[in-house]
Amino acid sequence: MDRRRFMTGFGLLAIGGAAGAGVGFEAEPAIATEGPTARTATPTGTAAHAATVTFRTAPAGKIMALTIDDGPTREWTPQVHRLLARHHAKATFFVVGKRAQADAGAIAAAVDAGHELANHTWDHKDLTQHAQAYDQESLEQTHELLIKLTGKAPTLCRPPYGRIDSVGLACCTALQYDVLLWSNHITGSNATYDTTKVLSEVSPGSIVLAHDGGPEPNANLMKQLDRLVGSLKDDGYQLVTASELLAAAPRA
Ligand SMILES: [Zn+2]
Repeated sequence: MDRRRFMTGFGLLAIGGAAGAGVGFEAEPAIATEGPTARTATPTGTAAHAATVTFRTAPAGKIMALTIDDGPTREWTPQVHRLLARHHAKATFFVVGKRAQADAGAIAAAVDAGHELANHTWDHKDLTQHAQAYDQESLEQTHELLIKLTGKAPTLCRPPYGRIDSVGLACCTALQYDVLLWSNHITGSNATYDTTKVLSEVSPGSIVLAHDGGPEPNANLMKQLDRLVGSLKDDGYQLVTASELLAAAPRA
């Protein structure tokens, strides 16, 4: 970002109200107007608080991970399960807690198929825009539900919109989560183009994001995901769960 433009924007915002009228002004997220210690996380107790944040890994073998966010939904999740089964591929579903509660069958089906379930908060709110107590509750409620539905504690979190700060990270460390972001995104609006691009760009350790809930999924995205998974298989890739991907490439 152009530094001078940022500072100009900041000044306008600080004056208050008049932002947006200036020629060339681009509104910055509200968070940019906060002081540097506006959100200080305060982990309690004597236990270790640490989490990794991973965009991609660099494993020795030809493996990568497909991650599916924002479900489950009755329209799209079964379609994703079917295309994964067709290619004997595994994926990681970052589920929204309240949607998982409303569709426990989809969670059971994912477990039966060997997919990984992970935490994408209870109601998909931006963690950076809420207080620590809210973030903690949103992650814990989803954590407890996934234990109940899968018999296993999830170990990974992906913050909605990929946005997280020290407060959200502290909540993740309290649950002993690592944070998984992504290296490639296949959108709903440009699924064909994105899939072709991803297929030309991926390498061992890539983490691909797509959606089975929210505004992104559509019939062509499903078709393109099928093409993606089939092409990767043909190219010798094994699609593994995110936890398997992380375990296969321990940090140096
Ligand atoms: Zn999401």
